[in-house]
Amino acid sequence: MTRSHDAIRSVKLSSVTLPLSTPISDAKVFTGRQKAMTEGIFLFAEITTEDGREGMGFSYSLRAGGPAQYAHAVEVADGLIGEDPNDIARLYTKLIWSGASVGRSGVAPQAIAALDTALWDLKAKRADLSLAKLLGAHRDSVRTYNTSGGYLNSTLEEVKEKATQSLEAGIGGIKIKVGLPDGREDLRRVAGVREHIGEDVPMMVDANQQWDRTTALRMGRKLEEFGLTWIEEPLDAYDAEGHAELARSLDTPIATGEMLSAVPELERLITARSADILQPDAPRIGGITQFLRVATLADQAGLDLAPHFVMEIHLHLAAAYPREAWVEHFDWLEPLFDERVEIADGRMIVPTRPGLGLTISDQARAWTKDTAVVGRL
Ligand SMILES: [Mg+2]
Repeated sequence: MTRSHDAIRSVKLSSVTLPLSTPISDAKVFTGRQKAMTEGIFLFAEITTEDGREGMGFSYSLRAGGPAQYAHAVEVADGLIGEDPNDIARLYTKLIWSGASVGRSGVAPQAIAALDTALWDLKAKRADLSLAKLLGAHRDSVRTYNTSGGYLNSTLEEVKEKATQSLEAGIGGIKIKVGLPDGREDLRRVAGVREHIGEDVPMMVDANQQWDRTTALRMGRKLEEFGLTWIEEPLDAYDAEGHAELARSLDTPIATGEMLSAVPELERLITARSADILQPDAPRIGGITQFLRVATLADQAGLDLAPHFVMEIHLHLAAAYPREAWVEHFDWLEPLFDERVEIADGRMIVPTRPGLGLTISDQARAWTKDTAVVGRL
């Protein structure tokens, strides 16, 4: 492989624990499968080259997996030292094979995602372009909807109040969680929020995989009257056939894909026509390189896109998707960075700063629990 003059000199990996102000519950808590969420663990990768150029990427885990992601990244990062940082696809392949005995889905790609994203950030900064522009943007702003206000630990009144705040902040849609043990309570909450925000505001619901096929169909039929933009994760994330049946049976679009961590897993949903709207998550599927592969498959299949979580990365990727995508608004990550995502008229503005346009904050440094440096500082 011919190398350009620059080469990767060091990789710094940090594990950062982000506390959440309130414990968060979705349907998985009510079925007893998971505990309420109190924190997120972020894996940051900072790559430096011999010429002194820098790239930053990150991955994350919720409820479990943070220490494993960090450990895997520390183990494989040595494979980048001395390499040409421009050869991102080759380097992804090198890293995933170096740890292939633990598999090419799950924790391994999630760990490598931080490194892959840092390489894309570095490349865009070298070109003095935002990541969206480097990839080839279709637009300079993306539709956004709020998720963080609609959790099941909040009362209906609180959800309505947060919806008002979101809409006043310029966010264009409202998603709420469903999947309570009593489906009538879900319907009461959906009806309450729909009445509160009016029929013109795009609204979504998310069952976080906790319905069985019968319940999903029954609930899906009852939800048709609310004119939802989509029903998210009605079924187990790996039930491609069940999702496809539901997508055929209901007028309301079906969205899924956030829990999958490898391109072939998402490809199966696309081939089976399991979703009208695909929800890949770049940190979960290995970073930008893998996300772009999924996006190409999804576009070829005529699917819409609503990437999951981490709006700070996904607004660039949504801007580069041929169809208008939806980016999920969570304010959770704000303390980790100096910059803020700008929102106006229902849309997020894609930053024009080079790369991801993000700087790790002092607060994130203070929340750092582990740091390792591979290569020469
Ligand atoms: Mg979801």
